[in-house]
Amino acid sequence: MGRVIDGKQVAATVIDKVKQAAGALEAAGGPRTGLAVVIVGDDPASHAYVSAKSRMAKECGFASVQHTLAGETTQEELAALVETLNNDPAIHGILVQLPLPGHLQAEPIIQSIRPEKDVDGLHVVNAGKLATGDLKGGLISCTPAGAMVLLREVHGADLSGLNAVVIGRSNLFGKPMGQLLLAANATVTMAHSRTRDLAAVCRQADILVAAVGRPQMVKADWVKPGATVIDVGINRIDAPERGEGRSRLVGDVDFTACEPVSAAITPVPGGVGPMTIAMLMANTVIAAHRASGRPSPSF
Ligand code: NAP
Repeated sequence: MGRVIDGKQVAATVIDKVKQAAGALEAAGGPRTGLAVVIVGDDPASHAYVSAKSRMAKECGFASVQHTLAGETTQEELAALVETLNNDPAIHGILVQLPLPGHLQAEPIIQSIRPEKDVDGLHVVNAGKLATGDLKGGLISCTPAGAMVLLREVHGADLSGLNAVVIGRSNLFGKPMGQLLLAANATVTMAHSRTRDLAAVCRQADILVAAVGRPQMVKADWVKPGATVIDVGINRIDAPERGEGRSRLVGDVDFTACEPVSAAITPVPGGVGPMTIAMLMANTVIAAHRASGRPSPSF
């Protein structure tokens, strides 16, 4: 039976370290860590994510500021808010919750955040630092950073000799995950919708990472016996067994089928998900340390 990796527990350990680092920074005469979260419109899922982030920031002892903008906010108004936050020395991290309403363009907004405040790690400067192997100088996208912390729990920091397959090549997850695995000395294959015989490619993986957005796509015979499986997917599916109109969350991996084949596997929910928010807090306290010229903690 595979070991089920407890993302909640690992995330709690990261959050403890963040709290300590934020407290120590203030105790040493440094600033209070400041996080600004910006949300546009009234999408309920986005509001739930943002509330969770603001709550966690407060729990970490941060000064947490939430800007809730109306759905009809213009590109110029949103850009002006980001500029104000860029210039505010009390704010060390800026997060603009995605997706934005359809009439707004996300990319120019993301790229207008100062790289040193880009705690989502989506600015091209941060992506470029990661791609060129500078893991200490930039800010790394939170979900892949969190997935790496979970992998470290199982394999340690050095993945030499291990084959890793990442399904999905998004800028948000797949690409930075591939870079992090490569930096940890894994031999990395990036798979995507045009990959031929995906099941056979996945069967080569000692570490299989799925970030596709297709419920339970990865089946037991895709998993090499003894592999570590990291399931990034968050998909809501109908669950009539729970009652009429009910639904539940599943990953991109068929957990029940794959768990016995794997040596270690992340569940959904409770695996990678809690790590994302923990790494957001980690990035913010790192940014606060750097802004005040102090050596930053590592996570
Ligand atoms: P995305 O931008 O939609 O990318 C999906 C990737 O999957 C693309 O590269 C796509 O290939 C590939 N793909 C689609 N269908 C495929 C197929 N049949 N076979 C192989 N590859 C296929 O998604 P994302 O933002 O990376 O997110 C992926 C999943 O992770 C989603 O379920 C999302 O909700 C979840 N997620 C979770 C967290 C978290 O906090 N746990 C954070 C971020 C994302 P092409 O490039 O060829 O189209």
